[in-house]
Amino acid sequence: MNPFYTATLHQHSHILNQLIRTNLGERTQQVFIFCGPAGIGKKTTALRYARHCLCDTTEQGGCGHCRSCATFNYPWSHHPDLIVFQPFDEPVALPRKQMLATLQIEDEEYLSYQAQLEQENWVSNIFPALPGEAGLDLFLLNRDLIYDKSPTSIFPNHGIIDKQLEPILENRPVFGSIVRHIYSAVPSGTYVRSLKVETVRSAIIDKVGQKPYMSKRKIFILDGADKLTIGAQNALLKTLEEPPPSTFIILITPFLNKLLPTVRSRCRTILFTPLASDKSSTLIQDLHNCPELEARFRSSVSSGNIQKALTVVREEFLILRQRVMQILTTLLSYPYRQLANDTALLASSASRKTKIEAQTITPVEILESVLLDILHIKEAHAELKLMHEDISEKIAKIAVLFSVNDVLFIAEKLNEVQFRLDNNVNPQWVYERFLIEVTSGLPKT
Ligand SMILES: [Zn+2]
Repeated sequence: MNPFYTATLHQHSHILNQLIRTNLGERTQQVFIFCGPAGIGKKTTALRYARHCLCDTTEQGGCGHCRSCATFNYPWSHHPDLIVFQPFDEPVALPRKQMLATLQIEDEEYLSYQAQLEQENWVSNIFPALPGEAGLDLFLLNRDLIYDKSPTSIFPNHGIIDKQLEPILENRPVFGSIVRHIYSAVPSGTYVRSLKVETVRSAIIDKVGQKPYMSKRKIFILDGADKLTIGAQNALLKTLEEPPPSTFIILITPFLNKLLPTVRSRCRTILFTPLASDKSSTLIQDLHNCPELEARFRSSVSSGNIQKALTVVREEFLILRQRVMQILTTLLSYPYRQLANDTALLASSASRKTKIEAQTITPVEILESVLLDILHIKEAHAELKLMHEDISEKIAKIAVLFSVNDVLFIAEKLNEVQFRLDNNVNPQWVYERFLIEVTSGLPKT
């Protein structure tokens, strides 16, 4: 997700404080790896640190008022010395309140424009905050409207969209302005599947040596550093070894092992831990403008991944969970005539080309969380809240069917599923094998 507006950094504030207390003198650390699960605030922390490094004053964390800091106050304005790369399918996030204030319109009118954005194909999907003047709206942009057709094009070309917007700004100025704001919030650079060596050369290596435009420093944030090809990582080594004195580079990734040891050894690695569930649920409440119960639901089904929590479509999730629960209840005396259907269901949702692939909740995740709930019930951890609190009675009924060992056995098989899917094994085969192994391994009733 993009940004700047959550008032607190929740549990990562100690990391930021540690970073900004370091003197930005000549011998300071300039290259970092921020590592931790997806969607928990690594990029937000990186951006906060960027604000600190780029501020005209020496105020810790950034003064908030100087020319440099001012660009951080609006999600649609860019700092010329902050270069952020992120995957294209990451939604652009805009705070509703700022949008309403800038456009000087009411919430209701804004919501009607949101509907038009999707109808007229300006965006491919919207994950709106609940009505009211708070929360974040997430938009999935239409790549063709801002990038040249070439698949390697990573810098947005605002000229393309400006041309299309001309007549609209004239006839429907508010609507046109909304489109313009959304599209000006795209990051400085995006990539589709991987970051190749040519891209890294032209977008990073050739640019690090250039003088900053506005501030005293220059920051490169590379979200999804695991998407760097081996060649690209090798090409970066020299830059990471000896960055120009005013340049900072932050590589962000959930997978440290996808970075070469030679890359890792040149950077200072900072580990981020997932948000505690009460913290993530408070944050979701703020960002989605939703009541506590809804926030708890979103928090629990997304295991601390805030972006996922904001984009999960409740209805789709409920349907999938219901199917997964049905399969679970039949495992002990499995009717094999169901095998083809069940496999198809599990595999289709695993490989479904959703608009934001990484944010979809998978059957594996649902099964895992239900199994955990079952364990909590069996081990009578009364103090722990169930993740699927809303169907606790159903889960309690299923819990009676399985022993603790059964649950652990299924969980172990699920790990294998995840491992195989991560290694691009055909989902159909993976789930079929899972169902066969689990049903034949469990004691018969
Ligand atoms: Zn400042």
